[in-house]
Amino acid sequence: MKTAINDVKIFDGTKTLEGRWSVLFDEMGILEVGEGHYTAELVIDGKGRTLTPGLIDGHVHMGASLSMSPNRDEGDKIKCGAIIADQARTAWRYGITTLCNCGTASDADIYVSELIREGIIEGPTIIACGRVLSITGGHGWSMSVACDSEFETLKAAREQIRLNADFVKLMATGGMGTKNSIPNVPQLTEGQMRAASEAANEVGKFTRAHATGLEGAKRAIRAGVRIIDHVQMDEETAEMMEEAGAYYCPTIVTRYNILHTEDPRYQYMRQKADPGDLDRKKKALMLCREHGIPVIAGTDAGPSDMVLIGPSLWTELKIYQEFGLSSEEALRAATYDAARALRIDDVTGSIAAGKRADLALFEGDPTEDVERVDTLAMTFQGGVLQYKV
Ligand SMILES: [Zn+2]
Repeated sequence: MKTAINDVKIFDGTKTLEGRWSVLFDEMGILEVGEGHYTAELVIDGKGRTLTPGLIDGHVHMGASLSMSPNRDEGDKIKCGAIIADQARTAWRYGITTLCNCGTASDADIYVSELIREGIIEGPTIIACGRVLSITGGHGWSMSVACDSEFETLKAAREQIRLNADFVKLMATGGMGTKNSIPNVPQLTEGQMRAASEAANEVGKFTRAHATGLEGAKRAIRAGVRIIDHVQMDEETAEMMEEAGAYYCPTIVTRYNILHTEDPRYQYMRQKADPGDLDRKKKALMLCREHGIPVIAGTDAGPSDMVLIGPSLWTELKIYQEFGLSSEEALRAATYDAARALRIDDVTGSIAAGKRADLALFEGDPTEDVERVDTLAMTFQGGVLQYKV
């Protein structure tokens, strides 16, 4: 069905276009972007509204609450898949049309992603890795394939790729969410991460690394990892990332919520968290701007109800703005740059003829103040209206 949005302000993924524009699209993609008015089966008046590409949460863990259960069986796998499909669809209420799932037990995200791509069920695009690769007992061990040598890491990376993972997730350091794990201590070796990265690159896929500490992050960058998650960056790490062409996914909302939670279930995390981390994240964003390192918006939402999939992305973007990015830079991190990092920019993450019509329409203007993402009016996934306030 053809849909037109006429007379609307457009943020195309990298910049706000001058003046008012109209967009014509259907299930096949964006047909035209022009200055006239289009006629279509559904015509939406865009006056006073703002249109952006559908938002991307570049780091979530759908299905991960279940994955923490030690007794997993086939029934759990099906349950996990149903939870993932449900969580993904909830994201439409927040203008999100793509989610990158960065680790869940049972590989259920890979299967749900395929069901959506094949049109068997409806949902946002899921970029999935299934289980993560970590050392025995390392961060995220309950959702990992244990790898203690370069050979085991190579083998595990190939196994995940055989299952049709879009990328391979590596645990370069300890982390907050795993009890008894020390956050900044290096875990997978540089050689292990290089083995996995080479296996992924050979078949056009990529690796990304959980790295809170600097040493783990440096190992990952040297090993050819494409996306570095979480790290409290310093000048040297930033230089290395710039030279390597790596992307940075800050996931600040999770750390923010850990530092502020009174919930007794999460006090073990709060005790591990350093209040100075928020300042270091702020500094990391400024280092990225200085060095031209693309930031991709990501929340780390999903493993607990402390950071929910959907609203957490809005909070993450508000924090970027509060920490010194412009509203347009924040939006770019959740659209064009996230799509580039995930290698889906030929399809989504921008508004142009030929791209898939993944779109978010806002009553207010998030290009002036990113907090106005809370004025979301409609979400289109592949040209289909999937959410309307
Ligand atoms: Zn994560």
